[in-house]
Amino acid sequence: MNLYSGHINRLIDELAALPGIGNKTAQRLAFYIIGMSEERARKLSDSIIQAKMNVHYCRLCQNLTDSDICPICSDEKRDHGTIMVVENPRDLAAYEKTGKYEGVYHVLHGAISPMLGIGPSDIRLKELLVRLQSEKVEEVIIATNSSLEGETTAMYISKLIKPAGIKVTRIASGVPVGGDLEYIDEVTLLRALEGRTQL
Ligand SMILES: [Zn+2]
Repeated sequence: MNLYSGHINRLIDELAALPGIGNKTAQRLAFYIIGMSEERARKLSDSIIQAKMNVHYCRLCQNLTDSDICPICSDEKRDHGTIMVVENPRDLAAYEKTGKYEGVYHVLHGAISPMLGIGPSDIRLKELLVRLQSEKVEEVIIATNSSLEGETTAMYISKLIKPAGIKVTRIASGVPVGGDLEYIDEVTLLRALEGRTQL
C-alpha cells in the first residue's frame, strides 16, 4: 500500500473498510474517485454526510427514513392490522419490490444470536411490543431469515406475543436455508408469504 501517497492510501483504507469491498476494489474505486470532477466528488461526499445526518429510524416500524414516520407507515391505504417482521431494511425492500404485500412492517435491525452475544434487547424488539400494545394488530407475520438466528428470533417473538392473543404466522420455509431474503426472487418471496403457517 505504500506505493501511493498518504491521501490515496487513506481513501483506499476507508473504502476497503466497507463491507464486501476488498483491497483491489477499494483501489479501483479510489482511482475512479480521484479521476472525478471536483463537483462530482463533492456531490458524493455530500450525499454521504447528508444521508448520515438526516436518515433515521421510523418512529413506528424502525425502517430507515428522512421523516419522523416513513411513507409506508403513513400510507392510509395499507393494512395497518398486519405487521411483517423482517431483520433489516433490505428484506423490507425485497418484499416491497413484489408490490403484492399490503400490510406494514417492523424492522428488527438484526436477529437474536446467542453465539454472537446478540440478545433480544440488542435488536428493535421492544419497539414492536410497544406497537402491539398501542395499535390494533390482527396478525404478525414473522419473515426473519431461515438461518439459525432467524429461526431463534422467530421462536422468541412467537412465544412473547402469542399470549396476547395476536395471530402469529411464519413465512413458508421454501426460502433456502441461510438465504438472505434480499437475494431471493419475487416469486419465491410471494410463495413464502402465501404459504405462511400459524405458529
Ligand atoms: Zn415506518
